Amino acid sequence: MTRSLPLIFSAPRRATPPTHLADLTPTGRAAAVARAGQPAYRAKQLARHYFAGLTRDAAEMTDLPGAGRAEFVETLLPELLTEVRSLGCDDGDTRKTLWRAHDGTLIESVLMRYPDRITLCVSSQAGCGMACPFCATGQGGLQRNLSAAEIIEQVRLAARAARDGALGAPGRLSNVVFMGMGEPLANYRRVLTAVRTIIAAPPAGLGISARSVTVSTVGLVPAIDKLTAERLQVRLAVSLHAPDDKLRDTLVPVNERWKIDEVLTAARGYADVTGRRVSIEYALIRDVNDQPWRGDLLGSLLHTRLGRLVHVNVIPLNPTPGSRWDASPKPVQDEFVRRVRAQGVACTVRDTRGQEIAAACGQLAAQVGAGK
Ligand code: SF4
Repeated sequence: MTRSLPLIFSAPRRATPPTHLADLTPTGRAAAVARAGQPAYRAKQLARHYFAGLTRDAAEMTDLPGAGRAEFVETLLPELLTEVRSLGCDDGDTRKTLWRAHDGTLIESVLMRYPDRITLCVSSQAGCGMACPFCATGQGGLQRNLSAAEIIEQVRLAARAARDGALGAPGRLSNVVFMGMGEPLANYRRVLTAVRTIIAAPPAGLGISARSVTVSTVGLVPAIDKLTAERLQVRLAVSLHAPDDKLRDTLVPVNERWKIDEVLTAARGYADVTGRRVSIEYALIRDVNDQPWRGDLLGSLLHTRLGRLVHVNVIPLNPTPGSRWDASPKPVQDEFVRRVRAQGVACTVRDTRGQEIAAACGQLAAQVGAGK
């Protein structure tokens, strides 16, 4: 299913998204409401509609005075994302949505139903500056950081879609993973504001359990240390993709700045302080990082450095059309997993979703940006 969307890049470009209630602390929300000429308690009313009712539709906010209501709501809850395209697959259990921000930039989020949970994969940046060569998003470079509210709005819209049965039966969004477009810790301040709001109880936030939120990183060591100091219960996922620096330098270019040893030291610090197991993400790429000896090395390295405080997620590469990178054959994958486990490290294969809807991060945005 392809069609041309020529208007996508014609929107006027603004440097920053409009300020939104979700960008602000409760004190800031009250001040913004006062500036809009309303009593401060209206901030809580608006927040209740947005975070608990999952709406920004003024017509549904009948507890606000009718006169000037639409303008007031538009000032505090401006529209941040408009849907460009939404594609479903996996028998309706996966739904990928491409959003256009106020300045025309494109971002993606993917909603997935599992037997025991509903998970949203969110984007934290438009594009990504980390330049991992096997990743569609990495090929386009970084366009800009998303605001906290742009991240939260992806979650609000997904929670609403899940509630309203977008994945079949109505359900509750239970998990959020920062594994969409971008390197979350390269947009640290806004991502942390978004995380705090996602986990705050309504009406201050969306009320998702901190333990059900995962923040991923390619290994920005100072930012991991900073996250450790926040003492949140969110899960940390480190995209390692190679157990040796020689290969990792080529797959994850930021490894030239922070080597595997430093990344694992920071990950261990996170696990020690939070008591939470760190996820190690390993995209298995045919004939690149899938050799049996690398499985042995990965297992022994993680067993030594993280002991029981680690879980490896092997991710069969979702190949980008035309790319030279491909997924490993199933027997090679099975042997790799067996060898990691043989070192005493928990290791599972991630269920890949959305193969037929370009669900590798950045693929849909790349297609639409190219007018496909
Ligand atoms: S894999 Fe992640 S960190 Fe690397 S370029 Fe892609 S989005 Fe960025």
